[in-house]
Amino acid sequence: MTDASRLVELRNLTKFFHIGRGEVVHAVDDVSFGISAREIVGLVGESGSGKSTLGKTVLGLHDKTSGDVIYNGEKLPAKYKPADFQRHARVMQMIFQDPYSSLNPRMTVGEIVGEGLKLHTSLSGAQVRDRVGEWLRRVGLNPDHMARYPHEFSGGQRQRIGVARALVLEPEFVVCDEPISALDVSVQAQVVNLLDELKESLGLTLLFIAHDLSMVRYVSDRMAVMYLGSLVEVGPADRVFFAPKHPYTELLIGSNPEPDPRTERGRDATAIRGEIPSPVNVQPGCRFANRCPKAMDVCEATTPELIPVRDLGHDERLVACHLYG
Ligand code: ADP
Repeated sequence: MTDASRLVELRNLTKFFHIGRGEVVHAVDDVSFGISAREIVGLVGESGSGKSTLGKTVLGLHDKTSGDVIYNGEKLPAKYKPADFQRHARVMQMIFQDPYSSLNPRMTVGEIVGEGLKLHTSLSGAQVRDRVGEWLRRVGLNPDHMARYPHEFSGGQRQRIGVARALVLEPEFVVCDEPISALDVSVQAQVVNLLDELKESLGLTLLFIAHDLSMVRYVSDRMAVMYLGSLVEVGPADRVFFAPKHPYTELLIGSNPEPDPRTERGRDATAIRGEIPSPVNVQPGCRFANRCPKAMDVCEATTPELIPVRDLGHDERLVACHLYG
């Protein structure tokens, strides 16, 4: 399903990693999906389902194996050159939510947040400092702490530094990647809430990667559920959350029962039967079949397509499951 009116359009996007001895990791496998301007999309799924690789491939941080990323009508290069990063840094950014490994410990917070401005604008040193101060304030930090180093801040404050670093260039499209090792859920929720506050004033379009649906459903317009390199369900966030159609989405929600991530700790998606299988050299058929309580014979043999499914008049509900056609 593709739609040229989207700000970001993925057409059959595929990213394989060749890991030697002929083995291939199907991290992102034939994903077609669009994000409209000013839309917030939550991309959810267990660890290892390919969310992070998808986000990085969209931004050119990984070279794609095949398929296309179309941004604002322009096909992005298959292999990014330094000049492409230079050109795209002002419109696309990634927020790495891991505050322990993503900030250079030898740079001051002022240098970290101001780096993009120095590289990509002609602002003077004083103007960069002013802009950095303004952004530290916007993300809830004290601008007087610009000369401090990352270790002098708490985990939550470091996440805010990461947000300021990504947003200081006022990009249009931001991929926000949650840490693989879950930080305190309340700290993660602060970032979600902060981006929610900033999205209106900045007109942001956001792809928010999380393993926990309840964390992102409040801020997401739509939710895309990923399993082993493929999208299995896409739809309005509340409909996906309250009336999941794909058995995987159902189990993912069931394994995260906490009602409000702003007040309670969440649980990891370990309640789903069995481990996520290896994405190396995958076979045809539904990838969820071996863990699916509703699997039928057809599921082992034929890969289900992501197709529109009727849902209370919402025409944007897509599901890849043999139970629906
Ligand atoms: P998620 O973000 O959903 O946790 P990832 O995108 O990090 O998933 O990983 C998807 C799959 O791709 C995993 O099996 C992971 O081990 C593999 N993978 C990710 N990066 C690489 C890499 N650079 N080389 C080889 N395999 C990788």
